[in-house]
Amino acid sequence: MRLQLLRERVLELDAVLITHTHADHIMGMDDLRCFELRTGRHMPVYAQPHDHEVIRRVFAYAFGEFPPGIHVPRFDLRDVPTELEVGGMFIQTFIVPHGPTPVVGLRVGDMAYLTDVSAIPDAVRPMLEGLGTLILDAVRIKPHPNHFHFDRAKEVAAEIGAKITYFTHLSHDFDHDLTEERDLPPNIRLAYDGLRLDVAL
Ligand SMILES: [Zn+2]
Repeated sequence: MRLQLLRERVLELDAVLITHTHADHIMGMDDLRCFELRTGRHMPVYAQPHDHEVIRRVFAYAFGEFPPGIHVPRFDLRDVPTELEVGGMFIQTFIVPHGPTPVVGLRVGDMAYLTDVSAIPDAVRPMLEGLGTLILDAVRIKPHPNHFHFDRAKEVAAEIGAKITYFTHLSHDFDHDLTEERDLPPNIRLAYDGLRLDVAL
């Protein structure tokens, strides 16, 4: 988190949306303390109610009492609404399964973000119509019980039919250039650190 904030020169953050509380998705939250230091404001953190408990347990110190002059990250935990306006963006959220774990997916304008997902419920499909950009989990080559694997992700990308799909949550199974050249159509690409996307809001 710290390295990404520095690399991208992120000096302000309006809110944080937690898709789920697996370690690889929350362990950077301590680095949010720099925003509390700058603004004195508790960071709004949107997360599912059962994930509030995990965040309170893992980052217990962020909810503790300290004498003046000691800074810890401070989180203003909020439930994830189905519609949310933050930072000038209108965000729609929905729940998808990640094996047994419910995960928040989101749509902003013509972009949808679906990481850590193992199925697309029928009820969610209408939220994924007319997409310009889809960001989709494709964790590895072999099937995985809790994630889309490469071949399944390609099928799902074709079903959803976004203008362009970026695979994310990629493991070391993938040689970036070779996979794009040899194994993917032009409208599916592999995401990478620092990728910037234009979103039609
Ligand atoms: Zn996960």
